[in-house]
Amino acid sequence: MQSEPETVCNVAISFDRCKITSVTCSCGNKDIFYCAHVVALSLYRIRKPDQVKLHLPISETLFQMNRDQLQKFVQYLITVHHTEVLPTAQKLADEILSQNSEINQVHGAPDPTAGASIDDENCWHLDEEQVQEQVKLFLSQGGYHGSGKQLNLLFAKVREMLKMRDSNGARMLTLITEQFMADPRLSLWRQQGTTMTDKYRQLWDELGALWMCIVLNPHCKLEQKVSWLKQLKKWNGVDVCPWEDGNHGNELPNLTNALPQGANANQENLGQCKSLEYQHLPAHKFLEEGESYLTLAVEVALIGLGQQRIMPDGLYVQEKVCRNEEQLISKLQEIELDDTLVKIFRKQAVFLLE
Ligand SMILES: [Zn+2]
Repeated sequence: MQSEPETVCNVAISFDRCKITSVTCSCGNKDIFYCAHVVALSLYRIRKPDQVKLHLPISETLFQMNRDQLQKFVQYLITVHHTEVLPTAQKLADEILSQNSEINQVHGAPDPTAGASIDDENCWHLDEEQVQEQVKLFLSQGGYHGSGKQLNLLFAKVREMLKMRDSNGARMLTLITEQFMADPRLSLWRQQGTTMTDKYRQLWDELGALWMCIVLNPHCKLEQKVSWLKQLKKWNGVDVCPWEDGNHGNELPNLTNALPQGANANQENLGQCKSLEYQHLPAHKFLEEGESYLTLAVEVALIGLGQQRIMPDGLYVQEKVCRNEEQLISKLQEIELDDTLVKIFRKQAVFLLE
């Protein structure tokens, strides 16, 4: 093993109500995932909570100091960080000593160590800029050089977050969607009247599927749903926003465009789901007597399959509809029927025959 020279990193991690809300590390590593040093420190804190001293917010500590101690504190601070801190220290000193300066118009001072107030939203640290940069980079590579795979990994990450009910899931998907919408190729294709590539279309499909998971989540608050709806409508109103079939309306159906990879991806998904067991989960908050998530899901699936709809235009989206129906049917076949479920089947069958 090659030994690397040992480097010392300064890591700062802020917590709020059991979540890591911000991290900084002097290694300067830019990624959407935490660097090794942050992970190491977090693990250390989890394994040896007694070894990591808990500090009061700095404003509290300063409050306990008298005039001399404060003088000493500031002078030492400036001595240790002489070159970095001195310009700011002198600027602040000038402002504080000037009667009419802005700093003297407000009472108190900010304290970055104090954490959020109880009403503030708390969520896991997510480096928004990094997400934006990475998505932009992957999109600019047009799905080649593994960038499509990287984007799918990001989608998988969003899926994982949604599963954990991490509010960053929607936040991250919003950032990803913004980059997709800003992709310069959209307007290029629009101008030339060409369709987007299959690879790209699959990514848009995944994006849509994830948004569906978010807006259908029964645990999310009404005001959140309202704000997402507003956001989705805004994106939809942008004229380069692709249609569901990935076209801008006037392409001829093309059999060779028919998505072999997407079909594979779906099979994989189904493979994973097969290990699931379906059962009735009570959900008193949302449902009526005798209903469970499973009964509702079965009912919705049957309604979806039973409905007569007009086939959408475009081969791609037609294939998608067929594939979705096949998926629904195979899911229904996996479910073991009990009396309640048989009743639902009977009810829907009667509706269809009428
Ligand atoms: Zn680091």
